[in-house]
Amino acid sequence: MKSYIKEYFAKMNIEINDKKAEQFITYKDMLKEWNKVMNLTGITEDREVVIKHFGDSVSLLSAADFEGKSVIDVGTGAGFPGLPLKIACPSIELTLLDALRKRLDFLKAVCDKTGTEAELVHGRAEDTAKDGSYREKFDIAVSRAVAELNILAEMDMPFVKKGGLMLALKGPGAYDEAKRAENAVRTLGGEIREIRKIILPETELEHTVIIIEKIGETPREYPRRFKKMERAPL
Ligand code: SAM
Repeated sequence: MKSYIKEYFAKMNIEINDKKAEQFITYKDMLKEWNKVMNLTGITEDREVVIKHFGDSVSLLSAADFEGKSVIDVGTGAGFPGLPLKIACPSIELTLLDALRKRLDFLKAVCDKTGTEAELVHGRAEDTAKDGSYREKFDIAVSRAVAELNILAEMDMPFVKKGGLMLALKGPGAYDEAKRAENAVRTLGGEIREIRKIILPETELEHTVIIIEKIGETPREYPRRFKKMERAPL
């Protein structure tokens, strides 16, 4: 498994040393173990975990410079994409946010066992983003599989400082989503810079990353309550 992980990441031009490969193996084993007693993922086959969880997550490294950056993963679930990014690029200052306590228990156990430093925050994005110690404090906000972009932008953008980035990992529907979210992104102080296609080696999957730059402040009234975001996306 160790050499498979190293070779897979090498195909993505990411160098993984022995220590990082071992951290990924521990993470994968714990994901499979804990998944027996709680709902973490539908993907449990070893190589699939490497490709669809770890590979997909670290593909974000090709979309921005993460070195030494403060990063928040909003709706991280079992840690994707934030935790693989941190393992691959340890200089990241990582915050993992999720509304479900059990998932944070899992993440704490993985961080402890792999010796990974991360701040774990249990809360809803729309509440945490009102807290002065998190609002507009991050260089980069990342999210995967949390909400459509017109809602996700309202969840993520308030965390990003001016000049920072929001990166949303998406599938082939990213182009339509981005169109529908143009107004939301602008209202929240951002601008869609690019939709980049991601090639995941050994798969036919069409993945994309939507890259949004924060060019102004997010008005104080955002984010709204989640029900409101859903009912009336910006
Ligand atoms: N990002 C992970 C991934 O790609 O595997 C998890 C995706 S899972 C489908 C969505 C996650 O977002 C869940 O863990 C859920 O608890 C979290 N979530 C949904 N709405 C949220 C909110 N308003 N604030 C914080 N977390 C939220």
